[in-house]
Amino acid sequence: MQVYKNFIGGEFVASQGTRRINNVNPADTREVLGEVILSTKAEAAQAVEVAAKAFKEWRKIPAPKRGAIVAKAAQLMLERKEQIARTLTREEGKLLSEAMGEMQRAINIAEFCAAHGRRLNGEVIPLELANNVGYTMKEPVGVAAIITPWNFPAAIPIWKIAPALVAGNSVVFKPASLVPATAELLMACFAEAGLPAGVLNMVIGSGGEVGNTFVDHPDVRLVSFTGSTDIGLGIYKRAAGRGIRAQCEMGGKNPVIVCDDADLDLAVSGVFNGAFGSTGQRCTATSRVIVQHAVADAFLERLMAQVQKMKMGNPLDASTDMGPSVDESQLKTVLDYIEIGKNQGAELLCGGDRPTTAECAHGHFVNPTIFDKVQPHMRIHNEEIFGPVLSVVRVESFDEALEVANHSEFGLTSSVYTRDLTRTFRYIHEIETGITHVNSPTLGGEAQMPFGGMKNTGVGPREQGTEVFDFYTETKAVYIDFTGAKREGKLY
Ligand code: NAP
Repeated sequence: MQVYKNFIGGEFVASQGTRRINNVNPADTREVLGEVILSTKAEAAQAVEVAAKAFKEWRKIPAPKRGAIVAKAAQLMLERKEQIARTLTREEGKLLSEAMGEMQRAINIAEFCAAHGRRLNGEVIPLELANNVGYTMKEPVGVAAIITPWNFPAAIPIWKIAPALVAGNSVVFKPASLVPATAELLMACFAEAGLPAGVLNMVIGSGGEVGNTFVDHPDVRLVSFTGSTDIGLGIYKRAAGRGIRAQCEMGGKNPVIVCDDADLDLAVSGVFNGAFGSTGQRCTATSRVIVQHAVADAFLERLMAQVQKMKMGNPLDASTDMGPSVDESQLKTVLDYIEIGKNQGAELLCGGDRPTTAECAHGHFVNPTIFDKVQPHMRIHNEEIFGPVLSVVRVESFDEALEVANHSEFGLTSSVYTRDLTRTFRYIHEIETGITHVNSPTLGGEAQMPFGGMKNTGVGPREQGTEVFDFYTETKAVYIDFTGAKREGKLY
């Protein structure tokens, strides 16, 4: 059986830890893909020390050359796209088509960041002082700790690692323990692209041991985390206690407003993909639909017709529409929330139970579930479920729809379906989410656009786009006096 290895100092090395867990295919738990050895605090600290040493030379490599290495890694990811996607599907459970899409997103982001190596410039700023020049330059910060979740095991690590490296930082990376195989394949792409030893290091292990050792280590200067809100806020506090910069992208509860003037077919298609794609385990998944009374019945009739045709099963099979929850604990969370929804008086329209087909017998499957007549105070409306469970809230007016959409501690993404210009722009201006869509699903994002959430979804600067480079760089302000004369008058 494959035993996953850490990647430290340019070598794949077996962990010395004693705790072991199996990497299991969530679509068929009889298939054990490999064994994870949970690394020790000492191994995590060693990786940071290796990264701190490598940083001293890596920061001196010109940014375009650092970008060229990341571009080569992107090229290798492209060549291995299907191989990595298949591994991702087998350990995480999303459809192969979704895993291929995720890989393409990772490649796009790596290419975008690589090219930014040629634009990592400051600016020349006019000074009041004659014969003086002022300009800014961008410098790396130091060792970056990167901690990622299981639900996008390729794209999220890449959207942190690629900008960190191009900006000249060295990296210690902790993937989620549920997805070590994808992480190992990604490390191989960087190693073979010619990245100097020690610049990128990966330690597989638990958050409490490896993650916290990274965050607390004096050589770590910045932390980028994606995952749940509780863990993210804990990491933010730890980082703040040390006075280092942190960026935490966390939970979501993304709403879609369907107005009474919407193109209903468009709305149904967007909500269907948003709610049930990737088994509802996307941070950008649609989990709430707020629909005006006048079109609610027609909207739900068309949505249910699509949902009832869905086929659950092997995510590698092209005829499958939805894969499993990632593990037993996530499945239990989803089933528990279904009970909570029923107990609080929401009306279960479909799903709510587990499929009984032979194909689903050994996996963590749950049927796509829709609750109607959900009220904003209910827990299924307010708490992140992270599964294929959609809450439908019926409202009278557009104003009420906006109020319900914003009735959330989270604010990652959202969408509106309307043909009315006034509603469109009011929505764009008033919705409290970091990303928003008009007449399209809550999903996705392009490499050159910023990504991140408001409220309890995100703290720290945005990821992706060019904005991410502000997080991974220090700005140095430079004054050059070429008068050759002593400064006269008061200095301030
Ligand atoms: P999680 O349980 O918070 O774990 C995320 C990462 O943090 C994992 O690598 C985990 O390691 C590690 N970790 C756990 N406890 C830790 C601790 N005490 N100290 C340091 N690190 C720790 O989240 P998840 O279940 O993997 O992912 C699902 C969550 O991610 C959802 O809430 C989803 O909304 C969110 N998400 C948000 C975005 C966004 O951009 N806003 C994107 C994707 C996902 P181990 O699991 O190995 O212990």
